[in-house]
Amino acid sequence: MLSGWGRFPTVPCAIRKSRGESDTVKAIMSTDSLIARGAGRSYGDAALNSQLTLLMEGSDRILFFDDLTGRLTCEAGMLLADILDIFVPRGWFPPVTPGTQYVTVGGMIASDVHGKNHHCAGSFGEHVESFDLAVTGGQIIHCAPDENIDLFNATIGGMGLTGVILRVTFQLLRIETDLILQETVRAKNLKEAFDTLESSLTATYSVAWIDSLARGDGLGRSVVFTGEHLAAADLPKERASAPFASNGRTGRKVPFDFPTMALNRFTVTAFNAIYFGSRKPGRSVVGYQPYFYPLDSLSDWNRIYGHAGFVQYQVAFPRDSSQEAITSILRRVSDYGLGSFLSVLKLCGPQRNSPLSFPREGYTLALDFPVRAQTFSMLLELDRIVDDFQGRLYLAKDARMGARMLERGYPRVSEFASLRQRFDPDRKMRSLLSDRLGI
Ligand SMILES: Cc1cc2nc3c(=O)[nH]c(=O)nc-3n(C[C@H](O)[C@H](O)[C@H](O)COP(=O)(O)OP(=O)(O)OC[C@H]3O[C@@H](n4cnc5c(N)ncnc54)[C@H](O)[C@@H]3O)c2cc1C
Repeated sequence: MLSGWGRFPTVPCAIRKSRGESDTVKAIMSTDSLIARGAGRSYGDAALNSQLTLLMEGSDRILFFDDLTGRLTCEAGMLLADILDIFVPRGWFPPVTPGTQYVTVGGMIASDVHGKNHHCAGSFGEHVESFDLAVTGGQIIHCAPDENIDLFNATIGGMGLTGVILRVTFQLLRIETDLILQETVRAKNLKEAFDTLESSLTATYSVAWIDSLARGDGLGRSVVFTGEHLAAADLPKERASAPFASNGRTGRKVPFDFPTMALNRFTVTAFNAIYFGSRKPGRSVVGYQPYFYPLDSLSDWNRIYGHAGFVQYQVAFPRDSSQEAITSILRRVSDYGLGSFLSVLKLCGPQRNSPLSFPREGYTLALDFPVRAQTFSMLLELDRIVDDFQGRLYLAKDARMGARMLERGYPRVSEFASLRQRFDPDRKMRSLLSDRLGI
């Protein structure tokens, strides 16, 4: 039985582990339907195929690294967590990172992931120099911004539907310490949160955590965190001779599935009150782990949503309508009282030239909801708001939208479909997500 991080849906899938290029090609030729799977951190059904789900995590060797330029070539199943362990102590950091390190490089390309620096660095795809892709006929195609350009762009954000990514070359970012200079600002409501993010355009990293159950004048109350990589010259005295000595990951675990009833308006309100009350405004120096990966400190945290699982609803709106659209969404969510623990608001810069890439110039909001009948009726209402404000939903988080919603949110979906038709006329690469959406 396999699922994504949201544990919904959960379906029986035949699996096979890829042990490298020839094994991947053999797997492709052995079946008429398959999808690649990285670390399974997409939330819904993007990495599920009942006939064959090809597990890439074992293909995780480093193939080349240039310590002068920070160019890294690795197999696509390499975990970001391993890249951090190896390269942060050497003064290199991923150019873009999602909110968890337990993702593979192949998964980062297929979802064209964005981080807290999208407004200045773009998505992960912007930093990819090339990759090798195994397509359905069994050929290996080298793709780069100036080589097989259409396939390069369609694969970035293409949710594994163009082929299996084998190897990737991308650029790491030079850092002088493994610390982050963090500025914390409390925003009383959504307007203040937007104002703070807008006035932080020059900050390298920015994100707001929103209390989705706050109402009335406090609707959208948030804590905004901006961040910069700390320069060596600014190291605190006790760390002056040890710029890369922050504690690594912590390993607490959620030991069992929480009962479904544990999550309700009262428990989520109480959690949010504690969280928002305990964030002190001002500057502080923090390790990169708590800054970028606060949720990773509690492994299996998805069990908090109980056995039925949860869905994440992540939407991106154009910049000029973002505030009004997000106000409408938060009003609906707060009325329903289904409360997402912490909801995340980020500012995005221009969209890259990939038909299915999610981030677009404007704001993105991500909310988690437990799987219940009421959740799905509320999400239908949210869909209407998304449509009204020309928003789009993130495929890596989705488990339930329909084909029409996809077409409205992603105007270039037909371009993606015709490229797929060229490289995969029999639609061999497919997932539950692509079947549901008709792509
Ligand atoms: C706690 C948490 C925080 C997150 N924060 C963010 C965030 O801030 N920003 C963001 O953008 N995303 C975020 N995500 C989503 C996550 O980054 C993406 O879903 C990412 O794609 C997961 O990578 P994975 O290796 O687990 O891929 P999987 O979930 O296994 O697969 C995701 C997609 O990638 C495809 N794929 C995987 N490997 C390959 C390959 N080798 N070749 C071709 N296709 C492949 C799969 O077919 C599937 O379509 C978050 C997820 C979690 C759980």
